[in-house]
Amino acid sequence: MTPNPFSGLHACVHCGFCLQSCPTFLVTGDESDSPRGRIVLLGALERGELQETDPDLILHLDRCLGCRACEPVCPSGVSYAPALEESRRRFATVRPIPWPVRLLLAIVGEPVLRIPFFTVARWIRPLASLVRGSSAPAMMFGMLAATRAKGVGNGRRWRSRRGPAGEARAQRPSMVALFRGCVMDGLFGHVHRATRRTLEVNGYRVVEVSGQDCCGALHAHAGLHDEAVRLARANVSAFAKHSGLWLAVNSAGCGAQIREYDRLLADDSLEETARRLAARTCDVTELLAVAGPVQGARMELKVAYDPPCHLLHAQRVSEAPLKVLQAIPGLEIVPHEEAALCCGSAGSYSLSQRELSLAILERKVEALAKSGAQVVATGNPGCIMQIGAGLRARGLDLPVVHPVELLDRSYALAGYYS
Ligand code: SF4
Ligand code: SF4
Repeated sequence: MTPNPFSGLHACVHCGFCLQSCPTFLVTGDESDSPRGRIVLLGALERGELQETDPDLILHLDRCLGCRACEPVCPSGVSYAPALEESRRRFATVRPIPWPVRLLLAIVGEPVLRIPFFTVARWIRPLASLVRGSSAPAMMFGMLAATRAKGVGNGRRWRSRRGPAGEARAQRPSMVALFRGCVMDGLFGHVHRATRRTLEVNGYRVVEVSGQDCCGALHAHAGLHDEAVRLARANVSAFAKHSGLWLAVNSAGCGAQIREYDRLLADDSLEETARRLAARTCDVTELLAVAGPVQGARMELKVAYDPPCHLLHAQRVSEAPLKVLQAIPGLEIVPHEEAALCCGSAGSYSLSQRELSLAILERKVEALAKSGAQVVATGNPGCIMQIGAGLRARGLDLPVVHPVELLDRSYALAGYYS
């Protein structure tokens, strides 16, 4: 039987502990933009006291980032995401999804569209770096500019050799498949290459699996349930052909989605296969952390680590990315005040809720500017693009990179690559 998506909300005792963790409540101060307020609205939707056509219901639930910062702080263990997704699924049947969002979802969900789209995007990327400002077009170019490779190894086909921990680990072979994704594959090929190399230095054999597709997270968050299911089924089927493999994911949003494929595919013939895939899915930093990671060369660098919401809150992975950074001698992790709060990217949120997204981003940029960091590290493409564009709009040339890019650079300096 399909589980009731609202059941995770029934434990709410309306204590309000979650309010200060909610980025939208911190900006608007409106109870209906808080987790507690939204849980009341979702409860009314479940009981039929509010209809999915209700404009206030749509307004306040559309403003939710889906960042899930409200979940780990809740003493009652409320599970919020399934009910939010269900509300979005119902909204999608009664009101149009904004066309820029619909276009984005069509592009990322169809290889025949996304391959040429990202090819053109890579062509114009060098020009994007010349655009400055905070207008909507300038922010879009800022996002594209933030996808450039920034570390050692750019454009070179390094080959890795195993480090000390890798040699120890080689006694118990460990093969992982790289999840390629849509935006990661289209604009962050350098992060995929860094992921592969750093995993290899740490003793993993990385294999390619054909037939995989976009993870479908953006579609699920926008309420396009059938599209999300289609993409989930494609991925589950592709990886099911390699049943012993673990899946390495370097995009927090994709990892969170794949780890919940069994919920998405409840009652589907692939539910059990999806559950097995979810159990073997790891963020790349978890795989690196469990293997050591091998220490790299010294890099005197102040780095602000900004945990992606879908890694910290949805997957509850907090220590592994820090272990990856700590494998670089000389690297100093500097704290910043807004680390636990969303950057305002949240999939297509920066397109559908532009003003609120910018207000949330502003807090993040302010905190990073004060941190004294020379580099920002975060493990999700949307966060890299959003924070990168925000810093550029403010006139700050702080590079934003994936943590594995820094480890990769450190390994290159240590001579692990030839
Ligand atoms: S979701 Fe949790 S923290 Fe928030 S009001 Fe309900 S019980 Fe309290
Ligand atoms: S998911 Fe994020 S934005 Fe939505 S209610 Fe929870 S904390 Fe607030």
